[in-house]
Amino acid sequence: MSTPRFTTKELDRLRELAAEWGKIVSKRAFGDDGPGLDVDFRTMEQIATAAAQGLTEGALQQMLQQQARKVPRQYPCPDCDTLCPTEPHTRALTAQGAQVEQAERIAHCPACRRDFFPPLRATLGLDEHAFSSSVIQCIVTAAARFSSFRDATDAVKMTGIDVSESQVRRLAHEVGQELIEARDRKVIEHRRRQLVPRTEVIPEAVVVEIDGGRIRTRAAGAGPGVHEAQNKEDKVACLATLKGPTFVSGAPNHPNRSGARVACAAWCSR
Ligand SMILES: [Zn+2]
Repeated sequence: MSTPRFTTKELDRLRELAAEWGKIVSKRAFGDDGPGLDVDFRTMEQIATAAAQGLTEGALQQMLQQQARKVPRQYPCPDCDTLCPTEPHTRALTAQGAQVEQAERIAHCPACRRDFFPPLRATLGLDEHAFSSSVIQCIVTAAARFSSFRDATDAVKMTGIDVSESQVRRLAHEVGQELIEARDRKVIEHRRRQLVPRTEVIPEAVVVEIDGGRIRTRAAGAGPGVHEAQNKEDKVACLATLKGPTFVSGAPNHPNRSGARVACAAWCSR
């Protein structure tokens, strides 16, 4: 079963509903009359942030617990297929703006003596790391953009995510290694012509033409004379698909000389 996706409209309606609960938060913090004239904005911001964190944690916790209850009490071992009893298991999980206890189930196979998790983590897009996938994305993006793991860790911490420098370093290396392996796999698939084409109609033959040069430019709208003259690179590319008739014998094999029709699929310049 695929994950149900929510439209922007549906998410907006949930946000409007939660916004209404803001009135309850204000009432709980300051009473029916709301904050007095001595309350500054920073205090209001702290209250709203605490309430938003609580809402995020509560919603995530509820959804995770309800989902975990649907995991069967017995699950076949992925190695030997023995039906194994599953036990409740929890772990701390860091998500965007929340720390939650993730409820799941774990099983122990008496035949192979291995512990395994029924495939709920795969459905959730989680792995053995104690971070949600969006948090991992945030961490590795920071590690890629900043010149040191220490700076990247500080940047991630500023978003409210509790992470250590060693965790940032380890995740960056692991994800980097996965990207290297994925790139190398694609190179091999390309060489073996195993890559799935990204176009529905595969042309019989294609031509890629490129050319470039240097042109002298001057400032626009600067009146008579040459202003701010400078050399600029000019690049032109043409991608063309070729289609020609097939000859039984004695045919010239050059598509143009054989009277092929040439259709330019796309032009781009500069
Ligand atoms: Zn087993």
